Amino acid sequence: MHCFAPDCNHQSESHCCQFFLFPNPVKKKEENRRWVRLLRRDDRDPNKYSKVCSCHFKDGKKSNDPTIFERNANKLFPSQEPPVQKKKKPDSEAKLPAVKDILASISATTPAESSETQDESTTPPTEQIIFEAELHLAKLELSSQQDTIQYQKTHYSVSMMTSEVIRMEAGLPTKEIFTIVVDYAAKYRDSISYYCGWKVESITFEDQIFITLMKLRQNYTNTHLAQLFSCSVGTI
Ligand SMILES: [Zn+2]
Ligand SMILES: [Zn+2]
Repeated sequence: MHCFAPDCNHQSESHCCQFFLFPNPVKKKEENRRWVRLLRRDDRDPNKYSKVCSCHFKDGKKSNDPTIFERNANKLFPSQEPPVQKKKKPDSEAKLPAVKDILASISATTPAESSETQDESTTPPTEQIIFEAELHLAKLELSSQQDTIQYQKTHYSVSMMTSEVIRMEAGLPTKEIFTIVVDYAAKYRDSISYYCGWKVESITFEDQIFITLMKLRQNYTNTHLAQLFSCSVGTI
């Protein structure tokens, strides 16, 4: 009996390693497919007699899936990767845990696939993945900052106002007290029902509160408020 792995000449007659039968293609379909994928034998498919020798299994255990092959003998495995370079700026240091979290969540959601790909060494090195994740995070941060700036540019927003303006418009003594009111209102946010079941997303929550206070205090018309906050009269 020959080992089914490519580049392996081990035979059950002359080698003392164990020989594992392919997982049943019907009863253990997933496992069977995984083996086929990992073995990358393009010339033929395994039949019900095909076996793989234990030399391709970590610790020689069948449950570990065949991951050790001649073709990746010289490749780096995740456990042997060099330490991450220290060329990073201090502020990216703070982001690092988040990157790790992302990586952890990725591997948590697809445990089988990620361990497989790492073992096969076909994916880019871990460092590159970390770099890409960081880049993605930076982009997200940038775009959320841009959104905020854009919002502040196009809307009359309470986040740009001083205490004096808030006092005049809403009748609250300081901005801090307004913040407390917003925090308090936020607790009941889910129970707020908008007119006709609308979802109000074009205006931030604190501005919604502020508009409400302004209306109560100043009795502004809806048209006036809509113009101030660059939104439709219907939204108000
Ligand atoms: Zn073998
Ligand atoms: Zn062997």
